[in-house]
Amino acid sequence: MTHSPVAGSVTVRVPAKVNVQLGVGGRRPDGFHDLANVFFAVALGDQVTAAPAEEGVTLSCAGPDADQVPLDDSNLAARAARLLAAHHGVEPRVHLHIAKDIPVAGGMAGGSADGAAALVACDALWELKTPLPVLLELAAELGSDVPFALLGGVALGRGRGELLEPLPVSGAFHWVFAVADGGLSTPAVFAECDRLREAAGTGSADTDVPTPDADPALLAALATGDPAALAAALGNDLEAAALSLRPALADTLRAGTAAGALGALVSGSGPTCAFLAADAESAAAIATALAASGTCRTARATYGPVPGAEVLPE
Ligand code: ATP
Repeated sequence: MTHSPVAGSVTVRVPAKVNVQLGVGGRRPDGFHDLANVFFAVALGDQVTAAPAEEGVTLSCAGPDADQVPLDDSNLAARAARLLAAHHGVEPRVHLHIAKDIPVAGGMAGGSADGAAALVACDALWELKTPLPVLLELAAELGSDVPFALLGGVALGRGRGELLEPLPVSGAFHWVFAVADGGLSTPAVFAECDRLREAAGTGSADTDVPTPDADPALLAALATGDPAALAAALGNDLEAAALSLRPALADTLRAGTAAGALGALVSGSGPTCAFLAADAESAAAIATALAASGTCRTARATYGPVPGAEVLPE
């Protein structure tokens, strides 16, 4: 589907994320897990355009995975528009177009990114001037990964991931993302993580598993801009569960490492795999090798950190 911008519309660019550390605590009595989650925003992203409309919230979507994006009220962008309107007591009148480049159900928080982008786009379209702390609260109501998509950069998320502390970073890091065919359900991956912990005899409740914390070596690697040190510190407690549900991902991880990646891990709940490269040239070569390996649908070279959701100039 093509889309031409409508007069008076607002377009927001929003990044995908990779978790350079995802420490998962035990299951809490409310069913959630405490996380020590280091989010990293990458240049691969979506664009959400908010255009004036006569009535209600309508949606359209374009991009390679567009057929997998729900266009009803369950879409996080539509929910964000309605939530912002309700908060200000205004009528939600907007058409939202999502130019989707973030893999769907890929562990890169694409839906959350669109929710954050819709908050920023509707705020500008409706001239509401909502302060950032309020936008962050509304974002947390939409989902635990939404506040980070507003902030961007690199941040430590605690609780369910929604309590954010920006982290210092030097320079740029170069990444490759190997996109798999088909998604993985985040709740199913957490459930598999619990099941594996039970099977290993460690237990899966929050009383059984130590509360995770950020790895000081990882924080130092980010602060000094050292890709080799960051690669050595990458960690994802959901990786074993994602590999258990999708064993073929082990081949993807091996192919990227064999092609020269400094480090490799499953991104969030997967199935996208993330590879840290020494520089932009190496990232391009790893992407080419992964695409030819037959172990993924596509491979994309990119970099980060980049800012969170921001309005593009007209
Ligand atoms: P996370 O990394 O936060 O677990 P994810 O990247 O694995 O998320 P999403 O791309 O956010 O997964 O999609 C998860 C599900 O959310 C989709 O299968 C889809 O049904 C639903 N969804 C709701 N809104 C959107 C949206 N704007 N874009 C994509 N999926 C959406």
